Amino acid sequence: MKKKVLLVGFKVKEYEIPLEMGYVKAALQKYASIKIKYFDIDTEEKPISDFLRKSDSDTIIWFTDNLINSNIFTLKLALKILSGMDTGKELFIQSYKIDKKLAREILAENDFVNGIIRGEPENNIKELISGMELSNIQGITYRKGNNIVSNRIIEIWDLGSLDSPYLNKSIDPLTYIDYCFAYISTSRGCLFDCFFCDRSNRFNSIRYFPVERILEEIRFLWNKGVRRIIFTDDSFITNQLRFKDLANKISKMNHIKIKFVCMVRQEFLNDENIKLLKMMNMKEVCIGIQTTNPNILNSMNRSFDSGRYEKMIRLLDNAGIRKNIDLILGLPGDDLEGFKRSLENCTKANPDEIRVMKLYIHPKTIGHFKEENIVFDKSRLDRFTPIIKSSKSFSEDDLNKAISHLIKIREQGFNIKLIPEIHSNE
Ligand code: SF4
Repeated sequence: MKKKVLLVGFKVKEYEIPLEMGYVKAALQKYASIKIKYFDIDTEEKPISDFLRKSDSDTIIWFTDNLINSNIFTLKLALKILSGMDTGKELFIQSYKIDKKLAREILAENDFVNGIIRGEPENNIKELISGMELSNIQGITYRKGNNIVSNRIIEIWDLGSLDSPYLNKSIDPLTYIDYCFAYISTSRGCLFDCFFCDRSNRFNSIRYFPVERILEEIRFLWNKGVRRIIFTDDSFITNQLRFKDLANKISKMNHIKIKFVCMVRQEFLNDENIKLLKMMNMKEVCIGIQTTNPNILNSMNRSFDSGRYEKMIRLLDNAGIRKNIDLILGLPGDDLEGFKRSLENCTKANPDEIRVMKLYIHPKTIGHFKEENIVFDKSRLDRFTPIIKSSKSFSEDDLNKAISHLIKIREQGFNIKLIPEIHSNE
């Protein structure tokens, strides 16, 4: 008889779909009977624990990540709910964001958790469900006698070996959101290594899904009624030849009128690539500038050329592509004046939107901030995603002044969005 597995997690934002769980369900369908349960973050604890208690599953895997967002800050709440229950089932926690140290802490403090699934979840959960010895399962942290042991993470080299959650009908995006859009990953990983970014720690290398399979997913989603697709890649353009091939092939699917959205690094937004984006019907790009402070950019081997930036915004504008710029408030080494200059440099070219988020730090990036005397805001989120309250270069007062400055600039008519879960006073 097939093992029964329940994949469970919180839906934090209205536009999230459990794509991560969909990949796992697609990978496991032959081996187990898989159910997905996505609880709205506002759901009270009792209905969740009642549901879990009544579930006929043998194994519960609580997901704290999806490919779009990390919701690791929900982990504390999940552990609280699970701690009061005696489900009699095996219980695992999944997260890209949990490193070995944190995994050990979680297991030491929560004896009801059987193990932590780190790294890409498809293969290690398959190994778990097929009954492999814990000591042989990649990327798992578990108890062995009195010890807590962490196995090595092995990345999935051939992404084409993963079944598509859409094509094999593991998830239907339209059951999770009210409007007709879906997400597609064309790659995993990021070429860059920005020290503040947890995404650069999530995968070691960049790998790609086969182009033909992406086209098939687009066709499938169009036929289901999806009219907008967001590419989840950290940068939609990284490999020029591959991007050209994909963009050309998508633009030839001319009966399909899907509007696309992507994240892309400004380094790749040249004349030729913007034309290709326009051809494939890209309607919106999100560009992570983060800062224009030269000291910080130097430490990341990056630079900011305002002439190039302004040209890029103009080209995107001419192509009819919406431009959203991301900035981070509170980066180590930045200060009030540096942040104001970054904002001024970005607003000058008049992008459609500037989104500002306070620095938050994940377990895997915390080592980079040791010298910065960072004080975290504990009132808002829990210890798994500390948010900056002050640092060596940015006092609490200056951070508040930066927010007042942003609000003032917004009142002058600029479209500035303060990411709401960070700025609770918004
Ligand atoms: S900030 Fe963007 S480019 Fe830098 S590591 Fe993160 S995802 Fe990659």
